[in-house]
Amino acid sequence: MASFRWILLVIALSCLVDALDASAGDADPIYRSCVGQCEKSGCVGDICFQHCKFSSDGKPIDGPWYMQEPLYLRWKQWDCQSDCRYHCMLAREEEREKLGSKPVKYHGKWPFIRVFGIQEPVSVAVSALNLAMHFHGWLSFFILLYYKLPLRPNKKTYYEYTGLWHVYGILAMNSWFWSAVFHSRDVELTEKLDYSSAVALLGFSLILAVLRAFSVREEAARVMVTAPLLAFVTTHILYLNLYKLDYGLNMKVCVAMGVAQLLIWAVWAGVTHHPSRWKLWIVVVSGALAMLLEIYDFPPYRGYVDAHALWHATTIPLTYLWWSFIRDDAEFRTSILYKKSK
Ligand SMILES: [Zn+2]
Repeated sequence: MASFRWILLVIALSCLVDALDASAGDADPIYRSCVGQCEKSGCVGDICFQHCKFSSDGKPIDGPWYMQEPLYLRWKQWDCQSDCRYHCMLAREEEREKLGSKPVKYHGKWPFIRVFGIQEPVSVAVSALNLAMHFHGWLSFFILLYYKLPLRPNKKTYYEYTGLWHVYGILAMNSWFWSAVFHSRDVELTEKLDYSSAVALLGFSLILAVLRAFSVREEAARVMVTAPLLAFVTTHILYLNLYKLDYGLNMKVCVAMGVAQLLIWAVWAGVTHHPSRWKLWIVVVSGALAMLLEIYDFPPYRGYVDAHALWHATTIPLTYLWWSFIRDDAEFRTSILYKKSK
């Protein structure tokens, strides 16, 4: 039964990956001819765009000088093609809705409605909330360790995982920052930054799971665990950025690292006598359930809330509970070590 579920998961994931390469929406001839027309005329219906007025050498001729900088255009990429694709998509989806058809994906993405030029406003908002949650968690962890709990005579903390959780907090905040940027504007650069930060966070949290669950405290043993995992994660990030942004491969790597750490924490929560193991249980079970949202991908409700945004939303309360567990762990370990030192 368990292996059957795994096969289903792999099939579901591979469908998701296929959907990223070619989508039903942009294969539609009516949409294609709309984009083709728009790139020549600069208009979709009554709406016309400034960026589509090109001179003979392909450079935009209107707007102030700084608008004509190629670097600026590259960064914004809010150019003719993007505007044409967006408005043709809206027009086509409106027609399709009247005919009673369900929404389809365009260029690997659901038809989202922009708000102030932001592509996926709900995902941006929940990413920002996740970032705020991590900041709150990390700050309260810092205050607890350095101002509330006793310190060693050399001013270091008794807790053996302080430095590791600091790095985790910084990587998590970095990852949610780039997630917010990517969901507000999806271009190659923001996509790579979002993917790389997420892989770095996932890889580091796997290292942390191994070190904490197996109580690896010796410096040499920590290096033995960390070095191969760090090498793998670094190679994967370099591969994505410099060789090929392979969505299928990246999905497999992320799912493997995610499932591995969930299993480690779940087994540990089952065998440990840690006073806060119930928090760990809730995070692990809800985290696994939340991953299903990423698999059962559905179109955005009213053009705003899709499965991915909901998935990001579920991690907000889980982050709160997670940092609360980390603080409990710091208190628990400190009390044991402090008693030993007396
Ligand atoms: Zn996202």
